[in-house]
Amino acid sequence: MSDCIFCKIIAGEIPSVKVYEDDTVLAFLDISQATPGHTLVVPKVHVPDLFAYDADLAAAVFARLPKIARAIKASDPRIEGLNVLNNNGEVAYQSVFHSHIHLIPRYSTADDFSIHFGDHTQDYTPAQLEAVAAGIRAKVGA
Ligand code: 5GP
Ligand code: ZN
Repeated sequence: MSDCIFCKIIAGEIPSVKVYEDDTVLAFLDISQATPGHTLVVPKVHVPDLFAYDADLAAAVFARLPKIARAIKASDPRIEGLNVLNNNGEVAYQSVFHSHIHLIPRYSTADDFSIHFGDHTQDYTPAQLEAVAAGIRAKVGA
């Protein structure tokens, strides 16, 4: 896609600091390092977000994550864990509309990355949870 910044990076028209590349994905350092080693894994084909993946592309792209994650972890003995983050849609903080998966190495709970999950365990009755799940099941197909 001609006006896509990640397509331009994949084509080599814009520089990037590469971590890994094969026929399916390119992995490069995020220009804004949430923590040192923060890497973006992008499919080489332009797909805007997770909603647009088919099963084959998903299998190919997500299959690459463990070995890239292991390499990031092995690159620095201070890394204790890693968050995988994939934002889909502006409301979910997506800012580049070529799908990408953030691999964010974690050095401590006090490093410069955090996630807030609101606690809503008390907000749903079993019947309400069942109704939510039924709505999704009706759409998921076989
Ligand atoms: P999003 O918010 O869409 O999940 O993440 C987009 C990420 O792409 C951001 O973390 C941002 O720092 C990164 N980014 C945006 N433009 C560039 C760029 O030109 N090069 C690199 N390496 N990263 C970029
Ligand atoms: Zn693109």
